[in-house]
Amino acid sequence: MANDASTVFDVVILGGGSGGYAAALRAAQLGLSVALVEKGELGGTCLHRGCIPTKALLHAAEIADETKEAAEFGVLATFQGIDINGVHKYKDDVIAGLYKGLQGLVASRKVTFIQGEGKLSSQTSVDVNGQRIEGRHIVLATGSVPRSIPGLEIDGNRVISSDHALKLDRIPKSAVILGGGVIGVEFASVWKSFGVEVTIVEALPHLVPLEDENSSKLLERAFRKRGIKFELKARFSGVEYTETGVRVSTENGKQIDADLLLVAIGRGPVSAGLGYEENGVAMDRGYVLVDEYMRTNVPTISAVGDLAPTLQLAHVGFAEGILVAERLAGLKPMPIDYDGVPRVTYSNPEVASVGISEAKAVELYGKEKVVTLKYNLAGNGKSKILKTAGEIKLVQVKDGAVVGVHMVGARMGEQVGEAQLIYNWEALPAEVAQLIHAHPTQSEALGEAHLALAGKPLHAHD
Ligand SMILES: Cc1cc2nc3c(=O)[nH]c(=O)nc-3n(C[C@H](O)[C@H](O)[C@H](O)COP(=O)(O)OP(=O)(O)OC[C@H]3O[C@@H](n4cnc5c(N)ncnc54)[C@H](O)[C@@H]3O)c2cc1C
Repeated sequence: MANDASTVFDVVILGGGSGGYAAALRAAQLGLSVALVEKGELGGTCLHRGCIPTKALLHAAEIADETKEAAEFGVLATFQGIDINGVHKYKDDVIAGLYKGLQGLVASRKVTFIQGEGKLSSQTSVDVNGQRIEGRHIVLATGSVPRSIPGLEIDGNRVISSDHALKLDRIPKSAVILGGGVIGVEFASVWKSFGVEVTIVEALPHLVPLEDENSSKLLERAFRKRGIKFELKARFSGVEYTETGVRVSTENGKQIDADLLLVAIGRGPVSAGLGYEENGVAMDRGYVLVDEYMRTNVPTISAVGDLAPTLQLAHVGFAEGILVAERLAGLKPMPIDYDGVPRVTYSNPEVASVGISEAKAVELYGKEKVVTLKYNLAGNGKSKILKTAGEIKLVQVKDGAVVGVHMVGARMGEQVGEAQLIYNWEALPAEVAQLIHAHPTQSEALGEAHLALAGKPLHAHD
């Protein structure tokens, strides 16, 4: 460790995941002295147990599907199966490369990286490895871990969390996934492509229930076609071990046998026993409460990332970390508009959105003020070439800006960049219609949807 006992850092950050390391990098860039305390691996959940490994698995799954469907494109290829060790090697190589890069970046910005489990010991210090690290400001960024239901024990073998699923050294014949949110749906998609019989059990009426209902229904239709089963409005009531696997029961009397159960019902904050409450930090069910500038009730302490009750996304963690660093450096950052954060579920097909759903728009503006438009990807040349189905749905305030963009289809995650500019710059449909989109691209579908909303559809019926 580079500091001596008399050093007082400008910022001490507890947790080196997306939120913590973004705060560290930006603070150091702005000339602040920074200590970053991490008990595990720099990069946290996203790099090692979240975004990156899941997306690598999803890419391997896409290649498997494309190989199986190659004949439809006139390509002769034979799908022989999945070499799970090969998949893990590919995934781990991606992680290792990014991890190395991130370590180099943190070192190059002269952040003092401290390996060890830290604990908040006062409103201006963190204890780690038996040493007290003082800071003018503290940023709490200890993130989250998979959650379970009381009485449902995750044994890591037959009842697993996403952490275990990412390292599974076998491909099960069948799996039940508890939870139809982003993580559950992504694993369902991967496993189905790998040949697993998958059933999702979701208590709410739809898969990806935070999305516009239209997107959920399109995903459900696509999953049905792919043979991914799901039970909606089905509350989990118990799991028992069978000779070969598990039997999952729901309150509506269903029993599903499978090799394993993946519990994907959400993630809870990492805050227990870390000295937060003892040092006066206001909390709610383990989350650290913050205002729009990520300030806690203690003037010297901020919190970012999954530990705060905001959207649990890596890019939200980055943005919150940057916001805190800029505030502490004396800049005047703007609060985050969480509706303007792009959201992507990287399943096959992908679900991507930004802004608000139709239901929320109706709630906010009244039914008569809300206009929607659906553009079917069947009219989009590139989507046809890819043989993908789906839709782009726009939500507009009558005679005003586009307040929601909701997309389902292959590679739609890549279109969310333009969609977020449209939402965040409060674009009018006519303004977007004015922009020329390259042909044939999938982004053209966004352009065509806005042409239609502006009253001059091209490749769509009036
Ligand atoms: C399967 C899965 C897939 C995901 N996919 C995506 C995706 O595609 N896109 C997306 O945007 N988000 C995705 N996420 C969410 C994303 O990973 C999180 O939102 C993000 O990692 C949160 O960052 P964080 O810094 O708040 O917390 P974390 O990344 O959890 O980092 C917290 C860090 O704090 C450390 N820590 C905890 N306690 C201590 C302590 N006492 N002392 C020292 N260090 C400590 C931990 O070791 C950890 O490294 C996914 C998550 C999962 C689980």
